[in-house]
Amino acid sequence: MSEPLEKPIGMAARPTRPQEFYDSIKRKYAEERDLRLNYRPDGTAQYTSDLTGELAKYEVDPYAGEVASREPINDTVEVLFIGGGFSALLTSARLREHGVESIRIVERGADVGGTWYWNRYPGVACDVVAYDYLPLLDELDYVPKDHYAKGPEIFAHCQAIARKYNLYELATFQTTVTSTVWDPAEQMWNLTTDRGDKMKARFVICANGTLSKPKLAKIKGLETFKGHSFHTSRWDYAYTKPDLSGLEDKVVGIIGTGATAVQAIPGLGAAAKELYVFQRTPSSIDVRDDWPTDPNWARKLRHGWQAERRARARMQPLMTEAQRAKQAAMSPEEKIRRQENANIEAMMKIHQRIDAIVKDKATAEALKPWYMLLCKRPCFHNDYLPTFNRPNVHLVDTKGKGITEINEKGPVFEGRQYELDVLIYATGFEVQKTGIYNQIKGENGLELNDKYRAGIRTLLGIHSQGYPNLFIMGGYQASFQFNLTDMLQAQGDHIAACIDYARRHGFQSIDATREAEEWWVQEVIEHRGKTSRNQECTPGYYNFEGEFQRRQDGNYNGGFFQYCNHLSEVQKRMDEHFAFTGK
Ligand code: NDP
Repeated sequence: MSEPLEKPIGMAARPTRPQEFYDSIKRKYAEERDLRLNYRPDGTAQYTSDLTGELAKYEVDPYAGEVASREPINDTVEVLFIGGGFSALLTSARLREHGVESIRIVERGADVGGTWYWNRYPGVACDVVAYDYLPLLDELDYVPKDHYAKGPEIFAHCQAIARKYNLYELATFQTTVTSTVWDPAEQMWNLTTDRGDKMKARFVICANGTLSKPKLAKIKGLETFKGHSFHTSRWDYAYTKPDLSGLEDKVVGIIGTGATAVQAIPGLGAAAKELYVFQRTPSSIDVRDDWPTDPNWARKLRHGWQAERRARARMQPLMTEAQRAKQAAMSPEEKIRRQENANIEAMMKIHQRIDAIVKDKATAEALKPWYMLLCKRPCFHNDYLPTFNRPNVHLVDTKGKGITEINEKGPVFEGRQYELDVLIYATGFEVQKTGIYNQIKGENGLELNDKYRAGIRTLLGIHSQGYPNLFIMGGYQASFQFNLTDMLQAQGDHIAACIDYARRHGFQSIDATREAEEWWVQEVIEHRGKTSRNQECTPGYYNFEGEFQRRQDGNYNGGFFQYCNHLSEVQKRMDEHFAFTGK
């Protein structure tokens, strides 16, 4: 494979300056964080994902056309997925391998794909290397076209998986599950939907994704804007035209500068008459080392290449004896200090890159992030920073405050009116809600969110005691992986193994024991207690916008390698972790 011209900065930078330098940067980080926390004491409540009434238009599916009428469904399937993105597709593939025939996907969109169905904004692509991110490449005998896959290729891959595993047959699209209630007598889940369906399923898998419901910032007067507006996950190509030529004579505004905006802004800057970028906190923008897949490399790949690649990625990083001894001799404080210094060096390189690319000095300064790398989702793009050199592109830096007012003409900031034809919200998504659009009631009629109110309780982030035959994917108390599909594959393999075990033994239900759940809650608490890093970060969705958070209410921080070990240990000793009924 050809080598990229410039390598991403990553965390390899070595700290070489006096400690005073790093301490002064840390003080600046803390000031910037406090500034933001003061502006938004309302934490996650500063957003709304209740897109009803006047806001309903922000959630309408622009890709599907009319909702096709159909008769309500009244039947029983063995496995039912709520959501049709990668979680459902990967797990279904494994279930098929175990011989499960009756599988239904219930999906709100008009096709499979999940995030890749909804996110079709210009420039949409994945920041994880395609040979790792696109799952089931061995099974589908497919090699991605480029080092980083673009949205349409990923969406097409999702459709190919659904075709290969015959998942379209029973799928119901444009349908939202509204309730999921366990019937102990029948040992079945009863589900209702917004299309009047009454479905039964032996096993239910919450595959609704971690960032699936669009959210808007609660900005005063938002609904009074008279121009055109939409959320990035509902891109209005009828207005912009597919090549964005509809924006040639338009003044465009975009609110937000997260990973979505970073990908959309270069295209918007090139197409719009004028573009105003309303920034609250800049993202870190590193190099994107992209290239087309080398056909000679692709030709030499042997069946099983991706499985081997994934197995390597899951291995624990190897350390030499000398490295291990050095680590052991270091105090925890010294370890943290070194990590922080290296992190600051990496961020200073991100700053240097901005200075080298962005010509206007004030704009360059405003684009510099002041927080530890990884406090926010890192971004990788080669055209984002140069876009700010265009004469038609204007950065409106709100210095941590954000846009707080919109009127019929557009946003107002510090007394200045920004008159726009179209306003695009790149304000992100509700984070990791288990029962998105849905009410889940278990054995005792207890709603899952009510059980979680006193603190999330799961086994491996997948099972929750009292909710037999229910499996949760991509939720809290599971491990975090930048390559999300590898995480989902690990969970999907585990879920398929659990269902297979229950079927082979003739059990009707499988439920985590109280002891197993308590063990996992304590594991999560122990590993999340190690650092105060989350609180020290600038607010964002990674740290619940700076809100207080119980230690058990986030991801499992013991590492993906360790998480995978726990999954396989539990699979080896099913009887110790689960209660079964119905033999
Ligand atoms: P984010 O939640 O990351 O970003 C929301 C943005 O809106 C932030 O920049 C936020 O500022 C800003 N904002 C909110 N309120 C205001 C306001 N009142 N005024 C001005 N700005 C405001 O959403 P994204 O859709 O960008 O990304 C969500 C996630 O989706 C990513 O983190 C990533 O995990 C995934 N994704 C992955 C991609 C990939 O693989 N390349 C591409 C796109 C998304 P502030 O930072 O101050 O809160």
